[in-house]
Amino acid sequence: MNVGHNCGLFGVCGSPSASRPVYMGLYALQHRGQESAGIITSDGTCFHGYKALGLVVECFDEDTLAGLTGHLAVGHNRYSTTGSTTSSNIQPLVVDIRGVPVAIAHNGNLVNARELRTGMEKQGSIFQSTMDSEVVLHLMARAGTEDIPDMIEKALHSIRGAYCLLLLTPDSVIAVRDPLGFRPLCYGHTGRDLFFSSETCGLDVVGAAYQREIMPGEMVIARDGKVTSKIIAPSERRAYCVFELIYFSRPDSVVFGVSVDAVRKALGRRLAREYPASADLVISIPDSSNAAALGYSMESGIQLELGLIRNHYVGRTFIYPTKELRDNRVRIKFNPVRELVRGKRVVVVDDSIVRGTTSKKLMQMLRGCGVKEIHLRISSPPITFPCFYGIDTPDRDELIAANCSVEEIRQYLEVDSLGYLSVEGLLGSTGLPPEDFCVACFTGDYPVKFTQAPTKLALESKRSRPRAGAKP
Ligand code: AMP
Repeated sequence: MNVGHNCGLFGVCGSPSASRPVYMGLYALQHRGQESAGIITSDGTCFHGYKALGLVVECFDEDTLAGLTGHLAVGHNRYSTTGSTTSSNIQPLVVDIRGVPVAIAHNGNLVNARELRTGMEKQGSIFQSTMDSEVVLHLMARAGTEDIPDMIEKALHSIRGAYCLLLLTPDSVIAVRDPLGFRPLCYGHTGRDLFFSSETCGLDVVGAAYQREIMPGEMVIARDGKVTSKIIAPSERRAYCVFELIYFSRPDSVVFGVSVDAVRKALGRRLAREYPASADLVISIPDSSNAAALGYSMESGIQLELGLIRNHYVGRTFIYPTKELRDNRVRIKFNPVRELVRGKRVVVVDDSIVRGTTSKKLMQMLRGCGVKEIHLRISSPPITFPCFYGIDTPDRDELIAANCSVEEIRQYLEVDSLGYLSVEGLLGSTGLPPEDFCVACFTGDYPVKFTQAPTKLALESKRSRPRAGAKP
């Protein structure tokens, strides 16, 4: 079973050619998933769809979009660095339930999908993918009702974990968010057209006005330009993924009701108070730590400089002609501005250290440019536990902070000082109640319990699967 996929969702209800705004929305959400993309449309009776491996711009062209007719659509960007990259795992998934076509797009990760699936397989169910999301469709089909919203409601009573779902039926788009609200999902409108998006940057690109977030535990149904809503899984508890604010979401988005940019700046400011440094300049690791580095600079009064330049054109398909280049992908992506950093005492702000391999190479690169002192500052606490709710993190034995002390990491990275933001500092910088966040990757306190840690390839098929782009 593929778990740990970061994804982007976008849905449209009402636009005459709904595939066009979905394409734009997915393009704005590309950072949430670069492995594959898919769009399914409905013209009121029939579904049309196209799904392929690759970036949004690589997957769709004028002809494919023109073929996706209909005023309703859902789209999905998928990213999983683990699990098989096959066409059967590209979302949205499409099935017929009691003769009615239904498509589903999922962001997050279900922690009991494996148990549910094993039970269903024992009863004879056949699965077409190795994705946890397919379990939801099977539960819907078994719900014993003809009404799709009822099916969804019944199905959701059995699943646990993190999920934002967009479902397409012949005449509606349905959005659902899990009771704890791990992942973001919002909607907006332009007149009568409604748009659902993982982040507000997707609404901006189609010119839609932000209405609100889908509430945790809520199901929102868009049909004929009207929106109806129902809380189907109430919970007092919230578990917003704090890593969305640290790294994953775009800084121009509003997520969980707060500006990602503002939070990242606040993290940088707090980091400067927790771990000050005597230095000549502050630099970021572009782009993910830009806002935090700016915050650090503003709070410390140390000048921010653009000391590292990122090549934005390094895509998944880049060919590394030599082993040396393959081993040093970081050098292809980043290059220091030597004249700026040579002979200087530099504060380097990064958003996180996962395995430590990127940081190690970056620090070596800076040393190679004659940087006098490196003071590395991380705008998140040490990552000591894997995420089982949809952020792709490696197993615990590969997480450097789960296996080494901060001092050992400092020595490994060969930096003059290393400071990680505290959990209190992180939570105190969000502007939201600290208890509303999931911080399991820093504390191991998992808000939704599981009997067995959902391993990444647990139910992967032994059968080889097609790898090309595919129409559903
Ligand atoms: P490393 O320590 O070499 O594993 O890489 C850490 C860098 O990867 C950080 O600078 C982050 O910007 C970035 N990063 C953090 N979490 C993730 C993730 N789940 N997927 C991809 N990149 C990530």
